[in-house]
Amino acid sequence: MEIEVVEGDITEQDVDAVVNAANRAMRGGGGVDGAIHRAGGPAVLEDCVRRFPDGLATGDAGWTTAGEMAARWVIHVVGPNFNAGQRDRGLLTSCYRRALEVADELGARTIAFPLVSAGVYGWPLDDAVDAAVETLRGTPTQVELARMVAFGRPTYDLIASRLGQE
Ligand code: ADP
Repeated sequence: MEIEVVEGDITEQDVDAVVNAANRAMRGGGGVDGAIHRAGGPAVLEDCVRRFPDGLATGDAGWTTAGEMAARWVIHVVGPNFNAGQRDRGLLTSCYRRALEVADELGARTIAFPLVSAGVYGWPLDDAVDAAVETLRGTPTQVELARMVAFGRPTYDLIASRLGQE
């Protein structure tokens, strides 16, 4: 699997699946979650309600339609809330591993990731990048391209240097 980084908005990525940093309730929220629900329209929330009546566990992943976005699917993951004391790194790496497993079930070949837990949930940025890169590199998958979407230049520079990209 090729791994690349771009700076931009994940809702605008022309890939098979975009990953959402959701929360356990799976009913929308702030940050990238809010942006994905706004861009995808009401079909995303409707599918969340139908497919996840009890929400989703921390570290797990599940899919819905991407509604009006260019992507076909949203793969929702629930990262650990570092600020609330959830500091088990295995829960963070599990999000990336489970997202790729769901992508394989769907037959998605291209997928875009935000930096899970690195926003409101407060996971330290350097380690959030390391956890993402090492898990994407270490997980066997049929996915051909993982695009890490950095929201802002400092995050882009950090991911690019970790990937060994200029
Ligand atoms: P969490 O609650 O898992 O920390 P956030 O949405 O607060 O989720 O932040 C996760 C990451 O997504 C952060 O790096 C944040 O800057 C980034 N982000 C926020 N909006 C977007 C967007 N539209 N596209 C890509 N990344 C985004």
